[in-house]
Amino acid sequence: MENCLFCRIIKGEIPSTKVYEDEHVYAFKDINPATPVHVLVVPKVHIDSIEALNDNNIENTTHIHRAIKKVAEITGINKDGYRVIINCGKDGGQTVFHLHYHVLGGTKLTEKII
Ligand code: 5GP
Ligand code: ZN
Repeated sequence: MENCLFCRIIKGEIPSTKVYEDEHVYAFKDINPATPVHVLVVPKVHIDSIEALNDNNIENTTHIHRAIKKVAEITGINKDGYRVIINCGKDGGQTVFHLHYHVLGGTKLTEKII
Protein backbone atom coordinates (compact mmCIF):
# COMPACT_ATOMS: atom_id res chain seq x y z
CA MET A 1 0.00 0.00 0.00
CA GLU A 2 1.42 3.29 -1.20
CA ASN A 3 1.56 5.42 1.91
CA CYS A 4 1.87 2.69 4.52
CA LEU A 5 4.97 3.00 6.73
CA PHE A 6 5.49 -0.75 7.09
CA CYS A 7 4.93 -1.42 3.35
CA ARG A 8 7.67 1.15 2.71
CA ILE A 9 9.95 -0.56 5.25
CA ILE A 10 9.31 -3.95 3.59
CA LYS A 11 10.18 -2.44 0.18
CA GLY A 12 13.40 -0.99 1.66
CA GLU A 13 12.33 2.60 1.01
CA ILE A 14 12.72 3.30 4.72
CA PRO A 15 15.67 1.68 6.51
CA SER A 16 15.12 -0.89 9.24
CA THR A 17 17.16 -3.43 11.16
CA LYS A 18 16.15 -6.82 9.82
CA VAL A 19 15.97 -9.74 12.22
CA TYR A 20 14.38 -12.33 9.94
CA GLU A 21 12.76 -12.53 6.50
CA ASP A 22 11.10 -15.15 4.36
CA GLU A 23 8.73 -15.24 1.38
CA HIS A 24 5.73 -14.12 3.41
CA VAL A 25 7.03 -12.27 6.45
CA TYR A 26 9.43 -9.49 7.42
CA ALA A 27 10.70 -9.03 11.01
CA PHE A 28 12.61 -5.97 12.17
CA LYS A 29 13.60 -4.14 15.35
CA ASP A 30 11.10 -1.66 16.77
CA ILE A 31 12.49 1.89 16.55
CA ASN A 32 11.40 2.62 20.13
CA PRO A 33 11.98 -0.65 21.99
CA ALA A 34 9.87 -1.31 25.08
CA THR A 35 12.08 -4.22 26.16
CA PRO A 36 15.69 -5.31 25.41
CA VAL A 37 14.34 -7.44 22.56
CA HIS A 38 11.42 -5.81 20.71
CA VAL A 39 10.81 -7.10 17.22
CA LEU A 40 7.90 -6.35 14.89
CA VAL A 41 6.74 -9.25 12.72
CA VAL A 42 4.63 -8.23 9.73
CA PRO A 43 3.11 -9.91 6.68
CA LYS A 44 4.65 -8.76 3.37
CA VAL A 45 1.19 -8.15 1.96
CA HIS A 46 -0.69 -5.18 3.35
CA ILE A 47 -3.37 -6.09 5.90
CA ASP A 48 -4.73 -3.22 8.00
CA SER A 49 -5.25 -5.11 11.24
CA ILE A 50 -6.71 -8.30 12.68
CA GLU A 51 -10.10 -6.89 11.67
CA ALA A 52 -9.04 -7.03 8.01
CA LEU A 53 -8.22 -10.74 8.11
CA ASN A 54 -10.47 -12.87 5.90
CA ASP A 55 -10.49 -16.25 4.14
CA ASN A 56 -8.16 -14.93 1.43
CA ASN A 57 -5.37 -13.68 3.70
CA ILE A 58 -5.76 -15.63 6.96
CA GLU A 59 -2.91 -17.99 6.02
CA ASN A 60 -0.54 -15.12 6.76
CA THR A 61 -1.14 -15.68 10.47
CA THR A 62 0.38 -19.14 10.16
CA HIS A 63 3.43 -17.71 8.41
CA ILE A 64 3.71 -15.03 11.11
CA HIS A 65 3.55 -17.54 13.96
CA ARG A 66 6.24 -19.65 12.30
CA ALA A 67 8.38 -16.51 11.91
CA ILE A 68 7.84 -15.53 15.57
CA LYS A 69 9.41 -18.82 16.63
CA LYS A 70 12.38 -18.12 14.34
CA VAL A 71 12.74 -14.60 15.76
CA ALA A 72 12.66 -15.99 19.30
CA GLU A 73 15.38 -18.48 18.40
CA ILE A 74 17.54 -15.91 16.57
CA THR A 75 17.35 -13.40 19.46
CA GLY A 76 17.73 -16.10 22.14
CA ILE A 77 14.51 -15.23 23.98
CA ASN A 78 13.09 -18.68 23.27
CA LYS A 79 14.95 -20.01 26.32
CA ASP A 80 13.39 -17.85 29.04
CA GLY A 81 10.19 -16.83 27.30
CA TYR A 82 8.60 -13.81 25.72
CA ARG A 83 5.33 -12.01 25.11
CA VAL A 84 3.51 -11.41 21.82
CA ILE A 85 1.13 -8.47 21.53
CA ILE A 86 -1.14 -7.33 18.71
CA ASN A 87 -2.82 -3.95 19.07
CA CYS A 88 -6.02 -3.65 17.07
CA GLY A 89 -7.81 -0.42 16.30
CA LYS A 90 -8.22 2.79 18.27
CA ASP A 91 -9.10 1.30 21.64
CA GLY A 92 -6.40 -1.35 21.21
CA GLY A 93 -3.78 1.38 20.82
CA GLN A 94 -2.81 0.57 17.23
CA THR A 95 -0.85 3.43 15.63
CA VAL A 96 0.43 1.81 12.41
CA PHE A 97 -2.33 0.27 10.33
CA HIS A 98 -0.37 -2.60 8.83
CA LEU A 99 -0.90 -5.77 10.89
CA HIS A 100 2.09 -6.35 13.17
CA TYR A 101 2.94 -8.61 16.07
CA HIS A 102 5.14 -7.17 18.82
CA VAL A 103 7.61 -9.79 20.10
CA LEU A 104 8.90 -8.66 23.48
CA GLY A 105 11.55 -10.26 25.66
CA GLY A 106 15.04 -10.17 27.10
CA THR A 107 13.75 -9.25 30.54
CA LYS A 108 11.15 -10.55 32.98
CA LEU A 109 7.89 -8.87 32.03
CA THR A 110 6.23 -7.94 35.29
CA GLU A 111 3.28 -5.85 34.14
CA LYS A 112 0.50 -8.33 33.86
CA ILE A 113 -2.63 -7.07 32.11
CA ILE A 114 -4.18 -10.49 31.78
P1 5GP B 1 1.38 -0.06 17.39
O1 5GP B 1 1.31 1.06 18.37
O2 5GP B 1 0.67 0.28 16.09
O3 5GP B 1 0.96 -1.39 17.94
O4 5GP B 1 2.91 -0.25 17.07
C1 5GP B 1 3.63 0.50 16.16
C2 5GP B 1 5.09 0.30 16.49
O5 5GP B 1 5.86 0.72 15.38
C3 5GP B 1 5.55 1.12 17.69
O6 5GP B 1 6.07 0.25 18.70
C4 5GP B 1 6.64 2.03 17.11
O7 5GP B 1 7.73 2.24 17.98
C5 5GP B 1 7.04 1.31 15.85
N1 5GP B 1 7.50 2.19 14.77
C6 5GP B 1 6.90 3.34 14.36
N2 5GP B 1 7.59 3.87 13.33
C7 5GP B 1 8.64 3.04 13.10
C8 5GP B 1 9.73 3.07 12.15
O8 5GP B 1 9.85 3.96 11.32
N3 5GP B 1 10.61 2.04 12.22
C9 5GP B 1 10.51 1.03 13.13
N4 5GP B 1 11.45 0.08 13.12
N5 5GP B 1 9.50 0.97 14.03
C10 5GP B 1 8.58 1.96 14.01
ZN1 ZN C 1 1.24 -1.79 4.66
